[in-house]
Amino acid sequence: MKPRDRLRIAMQKSGRLTEPALDLLNRCGLTFRQSRDKLFCFGEGEPVDLLLVRDDDIPGLIAQGVCDLGIVGRNVLHEFQGTAGEGATALTEWRPLGFGRCRLSIAVPQERDYREPADLASQRIATSYPGLLNAWLREKQVAATVITLAGSVEIAPRLGTADAICDLVQSGGTLVANQLREADVLLQSEAVLAGPQTLPADERGDMIELLLKRLDGVIQVRESRLLLLQTSRTSLDAVTRLLPGGPQPTLLPVAGQPDQLMLQALCAGEVSWRQLEEIKKAGAREMFVLPVEKMLA
Ligand code: ATP
Ligand code: MG
Repeated sequence: MKPRDRLRIAMQKSGRLTEPALDLLNRCGLTFRQSRDKLFCFGEGEPVDLLLVRDDDIPGLIAQGVCDLGIVGRNVLHEFQGTAGEGATALTEWRPLGFGRCRLSIAVPQERDYREPADLASQRIATSYPGLLNAWLREKQVAATVITLAGSVEIAPRLGTADAICDLVQSGGTLVANQLREADVLLQSEAVLAGPQTLPADERGDMIELLLKRLDGVIQVRESRLLLLQTSRTSLDAVTRLLPGGPQPTLLPVAGQPDQLMLQALCAGEVSWRQLEEIKKAGAREMFVLPVEKMLA
């Protein structure tokens, strides 16, 4: 294969991961000109191009060296790793990306008892993830029949072609609509940046390192919230103890109110209504939770 000097990233052409993946790359300062056939997007500023494909093809394209990196669900990456066989290029998860969250779960008809994996012995389980399911059954030492389906796995029990399923679950709505309930979780998944275990030793490797640094910055900002509030000096300790993520707050005086302080803290992750209510009970008021747009430490 001809050596390439531009980095090539594979991502889903059209599906759940497409928009958030593009948005993330844009935030990393990468912009693309979409080609007419929409399979290949040429990077405008940096030497980074996109290949838009079905998500199932992404790990294989990286393993074959057609692409250097890919944005794909952990479920698809692990399924590939489990079924790729000996000698295939080892892929690794370079970064979890925090979107496309779901889990690969066993679901059974609502009226059926399920206590432990052994309850699946001799059952027929329909799935699009035979590699992951077989590995899990082996680990749990359960002998069951795995039925591989490309899609519409959730209707298999109603059709009488399976006793249980192993499928992706996000809210659980699809399961309820099909009179199924989640019984066990095999894998917690989200979109990840996948790539070969060893980076290319040329400019592409340098570009990957730059991209990883930018990604870390973008992810940190995305997951940060600036919390502003007022509190009395006497409540300060109780309020500080409740700050999500235990940040070191900055304190400012409030004009004309010597016993009051303005507190500013950078919290890692969401600040929920419940957490705000707790902090308020501890003595805070005038609370604001603000998103962070850019951060340079
Ligand atoms: P493609 O045409 O690219 O093969 P697809 O139908 O296989 O698309 P999508 O349904 O778009 O894929 O899902 C892509 C990824 O989104 C999944 O592999 C998974 O990691 C993640 N995901 C998050 N929530 C869900 C969900 N409720 N159902 C399915 N996938 C989900
Ligand atoms: Mg797919």
